[in-house]
Amino acid sequence: MERTLAIIKPDGVARGIIGEVIQRLESNKLKITAMKMVKMNQEQAKGFYAVHEERPFFDSLTYFMSSGPIVVMVLEGENAIAKYREIMGATDYRQADEGTIRKDFATDIEKNVVHGSDSPETAVIEIAYFFNRFELIH
Ligand code: ATP
Ligand code: MG
Repeated sequence: MERTLAIIKPDGVARGIIGEVIQRLESNKLKITAMKMVKMNQEQAKGFYAVHEERPFFDSLTYFMSSGPIVVMVLEGENAIAKYREIMGATDYRQADEGTIRKDFATDIEKNVVHGSDSPETAVIEIAYFFNRFELIH
């Protein structure tokens, strides 16, 4: 069993597709073992996306990620990291496969509805960024 951190970004929450995203996770056997809605300030978003600090889109991305509430979840399942990234689709929705969340709902390379951890090491760090040990269901 593997764990990954999933986020429904501010654009997804604002557009009312929380249910649609969760439906796709559950129907793909990704079990939600922790979940909450939070709103980050830009400093907190910068901490979360610190690996992208040097990228030209860093300020815009962290402004966007702090522009409204997000839904953060821990997903658990076999091969959860790769499986969830497959369901999300490519970062740029124009290159995402048919039937993926980003292909169906993203409107912009930045406003791409969902986030997912990219490795087991990142998943551990990202989960700990949002959830304490009492919030993680085993
Ligand atoms: P995420 O980490 O959010 O799951 P990802 O792993 O597919 O997405 P990353 O390369 O980690 O993509 O980029 C993080 C986020 O930064 C993207 O999801 C997107 O919102 C934004 N982003 C990435 N590339 C660009 C770009 N060229 N221009 C604007 N925003 C970008
Ligand atoms: Mg990433």
